[in-house]
Amino acid sequence: MKFVRCVHQGITMYGLLEQDAIRIISGDIFSTYTVTAATVASAEAVILPPCVPSKIIAVGLNYRSHAAEMNMALPDEPLLFLKPATAVIGHGDAIVYPAMAQRVDYEGELGVVIGKTCRHVAAAEAARYILGYTCFNDVTARDLQKKDGQFTRAKGFDTFAPVGPCIATDLAPDNLAIATFLNGRQRQHGTTSDLIFPVYHLVAFISRIMTLLPGDLIATGTPSGIGPMQAGDRIEVRIEGIGTLKNTVAEAAGTA
Ligand code: MG
Repeated sequence: MKFVRCVHQGITMYGLLEQDAIRIISGDIFSTYTVTAATVASAEAVILPPCVPSKIIAVGLNYRSHAAEMNMALPDEPLLFLKPATAVIGHGDAIVYPAMAQRVDYEGELGVVIGKTCRHVAAAEAARYILGYTCFNDVTARDLQKKDGQFTRAKGFDTFAPVGPCIATDLAPDNLAIATFLNGRQRQHGTTSDLIFPVYHLVAFISRIMTLLPGDLIATGTPSGIGPMQAGDRIEVRIEGIGTLKNTVAEAAGTA
């Protein structure tokens, strides 16, 4: 199943993505819901971020290829940082290039959407707490990341967390092809089989630190091939079994 969150005729709803239609869901996909017989045309709905996270837990240096291009040693535990929930934007929305940054990079990543509150879960139990998977772009002001020596500013700007277009369930997360396209040209490609710390391990590890809530997102790290974007660019993150998250880059307007 592919869950989407959308607005249709002023009403925000969840639905199931079908061929050219969205089948309307009544209720809450994180607790109890029913799939109705009603559909709306995809073209008449505006796609929203598929979840509303309380927090985004991101993992740095989780592909060997990316650690190598950054000249960093492989971590012996997951390297975690947080992105604020206010950075979230959806499929089709614009990433706003901040006035205070000189270099803003894409990082295509597999996003894990938590389905149930979890704390201190074992890796073997982690799948029960995952609702599904989505595409994520861990947008990063690379110059500010280097300057600050930590990630809050560099990865925390509004619009720096594009997510979507859907939450795909019934997906095995351990061997999915992932690719990123800048203006239609492929810039990143990899597979989640190269993750240093795989998905279930991450859920278990993070749940020993902080309580994960329904809708929370884990951004699992990016493969090699990161690079800068400019205002006017189109950026796409495509993951096997999920779909393609498309965004544009816009100049900041009227900011100081
Ligand atoms: Mg990243």
